[in-house]
Amino acid sequence: MEFLSPATLADALAAKAEFPDAVPIAGGTDVMVELNFDRRRPAALLDLTRVPELAEWGPQDGRLRVGAGVSYQRVIEELGERLPGLAMASRTVGSPQIRNRGTVGGNLGSASPAGDAHPPLLAAYAEVELASVDGARRVPVAEFFTGPKRSVLAPDELITAYVVPPADGPEQFAKVGTRNAMVIAVCSFALALHPDRRAVGTGIGSAAPTPMRAIRAELFLQGELADRWDSPGELPAPVVEEFGLLVAASASPIDDVRGTANYRRRALAVLARRTLRWAWSQYQEAHR
Ligand SMILES: Cc1cc2nc3c(=O)[nH]c(=O)nc-3n(C[C@H](O)[C@H](O)[C@H](O)COP(=O)(O)OP(=O)(O)OC[C@H]3O[C@@H](n4cnc5c(N)ncnc54)[C@H](O)[C@@H]3O)c2cc1C
Repeated sequence: MEFLSPATLADALAAKAEFPDAVPIAGGTDVMVELNFDRRRPAALLDLTRVPELAEWGPQDGRLRVGAGVSYQRVIEELGERLPGLAMASRTVGSPQIRNRGTVGGNLGSASPAGDAHPPLLAAYAEVELASVDGARRVPVAEFFTGPKRSVLAPDELITAYVVPPADGPEQFAKVGTRNAMVIAVCSFALALHPDRRAVGTGIGSAAPTPMRAIRAELFLQGELADRWDSPGELPAPVVEEFGLLVAASASPIDDVRGTANYRRRALAVLARRTLRWAWSQYQEAHR
């Protein structure tokens, strides 16, 4: 097996252009499992861990541009206040070892419907930055996934970063698993309140062929919150209930070893209600 180990982004993109079949490897927490189980035997691996540009993050035009190679642990430590939803999801990923190696870029690269970084990125209206030797493009994360483990990433492209507005309101993430750690989500849900734009963002994981937004639920809640942003009182129970039902109705889960479709829908409604209550009481608290 060829092992390509570029030390700059330009060299990495040139290598991907020359060897489009080369499999990028960042933290390796998905790739190495596939190699170990002989599910994949690529002719070449393209190691991205020496590329400094992928490990950087910083502000850009009022948003944050975070390199694809920034680990979960760094998201938690360095970006927890700016991207609380993503940090919350990152805390639930694997174990300390996995969070030290694993990256959000790798989660996007695997494009699993169960990837924990995806729901908070959806709820925060993030974009994924893709680059090749011909230049870079940005794709809204909601349009990045095309099917289970499939995305719009072209063979000659790399994921270089994701670009996301820093949180302007409370963000929450919750997931259901068969135990508390080291488990693939049975389903997950992220919610972001965006008081600045009077909007609501959502992200559903593990309950459809791709991670997805619950758009009808977002619109419903936006309508209900329209007159409440400035003087946030209690949210009526029927509003919370309806939000949960709309989130559950947006999903198209399947029965599999981790849970049934019915269970996933019920659990999603619970997660949606719970995260809404948490986020709204945070918002009320901030307004006092
Ligand atoms: C024990 C264990 C527990 C886990 N727990 C969780 C969990 O709780 N939640 C969760 O979501 N995941 C979990 N995972 C899966 C994995 O850790 C995540 O998907 C992680 O984000 C992968 O990141 P990585 O940097 O290790 O990716 P890698 O394994 O290096 O790569 C993953 C995929 O993305 C591609 N890729 C990587 N970087 C790029 C790039 N810059 N451009 C283009 N393609 C790229 C690779 O070619 C590969 O297809 C777990 C894995 C293990 C082994």
